[in-house]
Amino acid sequence: MTIPKTQKAIVFETSGGPLEYKDVPVPVPGDHQILVNVKYSGVCHSDLHAWMGDWPLPTKLPLIGGHEGAGVVVAKGKNVTTFEIGDYAGIKWINQACYTCEFCQEAYEPNCPKAQISGYTMDGTFQQYALADAVQAAHIPQGTDLSQVAPILCAGVTVYKAIKTSGRKAGEWLAVTGAGGGLGSLAVQYAKAMGFRVLAIDTTEEKEKMCLELGAEVFVDFAKTDNLVARVQEITGGGPHGVINVSVSEFAINQSLEYVRSVGTVVLVGLPAGAVCKSPIFSQVARAITIKGSPVGNRADTQEALSFFTRGLVHSPIHVVGLSELQKVFTLMEEGKIAGRYVVDTSK
Ligand code: NAD
Ligand code: ZN
Repeated sequence: MTIPKTQKAIVFETSGGPLEYKDVPVPVPGDHQILVNVKYSGVCHSDLHAWMGDWPLPTKLPLIGGHEGAGVVVAKGKNVTTFEIGDYAGIKWINQACYTCEFCQEAYEPNCPKAQISGYTMDGTFQQYALADAVQAAHIPQGTDLSQVAPILCAGVTVYKAIKTSGRKAGEWLAVTGAGGGLGSLAVQYAKAMGFRVLAIDTTEEKEKMCLELGAEVFVDFAKTDNLVARVQEITGGGPHGVINVSVSEFAINQSLEYVRSVGTVVLVGLPAGAVCKSPIFSQVARAITIKGSPVGNRADTQEALSFFTRGLVHSPIHVVGLSELQKVFTLMEEGKIAGRYVVDTSK
């Protein structure tokens, strides 16, 4: 297998600056790393936040973003024993962790203070050849459709882990805010597969149709519903037992504290810039509401989320475009116009 010296990538030099489609050197794997020929990369709203630089965590600059990469191993460092050349591998948000801190010891790798993040603190998957730590890289079965599996590597893992974090039981109502987006469209399916009754909240007829096809029992259009809190409580007979917040809306997140059922659980996943989750203490105490934050997932969550995918219990509602068109995807995402997930083909 010949590995070229240069490749195509999307690079930005400054936060919110031009997204340049250009030739960059192919990186060389360190002793513990694999070099993955990324075939497809999902485009997550976190990539848009990374480009805009709107979170209180600085990115590397210049940066190649992307953290939902699916491809083929083409080279590996001398210490790598768990991947062979030709294997399928997935590059995730958590690219590397220390494995020695108190959080890693308990498998909270996303909370490792030394974690390296793909497309954020190190170059990610909006390039044809990207590096991944062999311990963190996901193992993808040969023959898997790499365009379909790409969104599972962040969106799928994150929502599956968030549903587990809710601690809610099969048969209960789970509301998903932002249900028509990348994370939401997978959250609806994982929740259904895990036995929940799913109430999807988002807007547009296209997203409504998609959410109902993916297994939501009811769809509530936030843009067309006057009293959303009352409507959600009416449908669910007193409020959903759990809420998975994957919208990029501070308003939607705070609203979920109002309609959640007493003794219910609100999980925070979406990360609107500068947002605050403000819970009235009287209501939170008297109604015994739990609020939990949930960042991506660890290696076990990843393999479990992938297992739902390979068994055909969830699929990715994707639109495939060339890597060179990333700017267009970000524009559509900013306008809230994406039903499901865009995936970029790095060969175009
Ligand atoms: P997306 O743009 O694909 O989807 C967001 C959806 O929210 C859109 O469909 C939009 O219509 C909907 N929405 C907007 N306002 C709403 C409202 N008031 N009520 C209900 N829905 C509303 O984004 P995505 O890629 O799914 O990412 C969502 C968020 O999750 C982003 O902030 C992203 O950074 C974050 N994220 C967090 C983690 C984590 O580990 N916690 C992982 C991945 C992504
Ligand atoms: Zn992501």
